[in-house]
Formats: sequence, structure tokens, C-alpha cells
Amino acid sequence: MSHPGRGILTIVSGFAGSGKGTVMKKLTEKYDDLALSVSATSRAPRPGEEEGVSYFFKTREQFEEMIRADEFLEYAEYVGNYYGTPKDFVFKKMDEGYDVILEIELQGAMLIKKKYPESLLIFLTPPDAAELYGRLKGRGTETDEVIKRRMQRAAEEALCIKDYDYLVINDNIDDCVERVRGIIRSAHHSTAHETGMIDRMIKELNELTGGL
Ligand code: 5GP
Repeated sequence: MSHPGRGILTIVSGFAGSGKGTVMKKLTEKYDDLALSVSATSRAPRPGEEEGVSYFFKTREQFEEMIRADEFLEYAEYVGNYYGTPKDFVFKKMDEGYDVILEIELQGAMLIKKKYPESLLIFLTPPDAAELYGRLKGRGTETDEVIKRRMQRAAEEALCIKDYDYLVINDNIDDCVERVRGIIRSAHHSTAHETGMIDRMIKELNELTGGL
């Protein structure tokens, strides 16, 4: 079931290895009023990744063509590859009342925050840096060089966590899923989201007091 009215645009970012992919998968499987946007990327698929599920895999040329055609809500380059959010899906689902989640990195998140200040920004992190390194190594899909670049990138990203609205520690997947869910539910009652209700109340009060 989707919500009546426009859904919440939720951005989830986190260090590579923060477990955000797993959390997002569980979250959207469990709650059917949430829709997860599938990004396009010029990165090569990892073993087990599916076209149209994990990402829409593109060549750099195809991706640049999509940029020219203005198909992205936002896009960024991250560790040598393009990543972008196709806008059609996001707008359609939000109009249908779904809360749409974008799992994107920091530059894209900041672009969205600027364009849509009412959006909700959540940052996900493992409890400590050693755990982060262990998860990246343990994944076994990246070279040491890529892992090093992703750790350096994490150190830069940590400086910007305070620009997000919420910080969620992923110490336990199920708890983390519920925390993120709770934050999105609360956002439905934020004054930034309830502007329609506020305007209606002002109008009604003015009408009523005018008639008294
Ligand atoms: P990965 O290569 O590990 O799948 O993703 C690398 C980074 O790109 C992650 O931080 C992920 O959240 C981010 N990312 C995935 N899709 C998008 C997107 O559409 N836009 C932006 N800006 N970042 C994305």
C-alpha cells in the first residue's frame, strides 16, 4: 500500500562496506510502501549483479548520452565511474505516493538536498573503521588498490556526515532496517512535508474567523 499524497524522497548514503545494499534490500522487501530507485552506472557488473535490478549497466558513451538527454535527477563520478538516478521512475513513484529511496554517494546526495530541500538524508555507517575495512576485504570482489581508494574516499566522506539529517549505525541488520523505517515514517509528520495541511489550516482559520 502506498501513502495518500506525495511520498518522501529519501537519500541513503554510507561508506562502501557499510552494508547499505543489504539494509535497503531488506527494507524494501519488508515494506511495500517504499520503492528503491535503480541507478545507471558505467561500472562493470560484479558477479551476481543483475541488469535492471542492481543497476542499469551502461558504457561511458551511453551514460554521457543519457546526461545530454537530461535523463538524470542527479549523477556523479565515484572512484572512476559514473553513477546516476534516472528521474522518470522517481517522479512517477512519488506521485503514486510511494516513499522513494535513492541509495547514492555524497556528491549526488548534496545535489538532491540543494534541489529538493524537503528530502530526507540518512547516513549509514558500521560501528567503527576496522569493521568497515574488514567488510570491504571480506567481500572479495575488489582489488587491494580499489579497496584502498574506497577507504580513502570514506575518510573524506566522514567529514560531510553532519550535512545529513540522520546517522544510523549498522551494528545489526534487522535493527538498522527498523531504524531507517522509523525515520522515514516520522518524516511524514515533518512540517516540511505537511505544507499542504498547514496552508489548508491557515485558509480555513481565516475563513472561519472572517465569518465570526
Ligand atoms: P558500488 O560501485 O559499490 O555499487 O557503488 C559505489 C557508490 O555509488 C555507492 O556509494 C553508491 O551509493 C553510489 N551510487 C549508486 N548509485 C548512484 C547514483 O545513482 N547516483 C550517485 N550519485 N551515486 C550512486
